[in-house]
Amino acid sequence: MQNSPAYRVTVADFGGARSTRTLTPAEGDILIDSALCDGDDVVPDADRSGRITITRTIRGRLSAVDAELRTLRRVVRLEPVCGPRLVTARQYDDLTLIHDRDAPGKFPARLVEGRLRAGFAVISPAATARLFGRGWLTSHTDGAITVSYAGRVAMALHEHRNEIVFIGTHRWVQRSDGTGGYEPGMPLYRAGCSCGHRAATRFEERACAQAACRRHRLNHLRAVFGLAP
Ligand SMILES: [Zn+2]
Repeated sequence: MQNSPAYRVTVADFGGARSTRTLTPAEGDILIDSALCDGDDVVPDADRSGRITITRTIRGRLSAVDAELRTLRRVVRLEPVCGPRLVTARQYDDLTLIHDRDAPGKFPARLVEGRLRAGFAVISPAATARLFGRGWLTSHTDGAITVSYAGRVAMALHEHRNEIVFIGTHRWVQRSDGTGGYEPGMPLYRAGCSCGHRAATRFEERACAQAACRRHRLNHLRAVFGLAP
């Protein structure tokens, strides 16, 4: 099945030259795996864009006649061609079926007459084509089909959606004239996630609760690449 591009890539090379291109899911997976293997910085954006930045830092010279030893960086910016927000609940379930087969001792998902077979599950040709079209599946030379990094990031973003809850702090106030009434106190916000996570702290500022949500989501995005929190 024809693979659509997974990423648009912008490269700012060591000497400052810039270039752009697109990568298939397989090319994207190889680029990211190589960067992780070489110890480059692989940093997913904390928002829901699915973007990834890979930075390689070296000490070297810009040319053979350059006397100065400099710290040089090559920055590769990967932007998903298909926004990960577009993953539907059904597609998330299908990707989970495929990803579950990508494990030692299991027979990986395969294409059979346009359908994807993942264990006992069968994904229809139309649904299969859409998953390929969004760059979320990688075809391997041995016929195995796995979920690409772009697909796994889309899965992680689907699993971890912010849930910020406003907690009312109205309290009864007894006035000096004997009357009383409920008055608003300091508002509080609780940072939560669709995965069931709840931050232990309650926040006085909504922005602080949003930052806690981003930290939680970023930890799970880093886990996609095998990076520690
Ligand atoms: Zn979560």
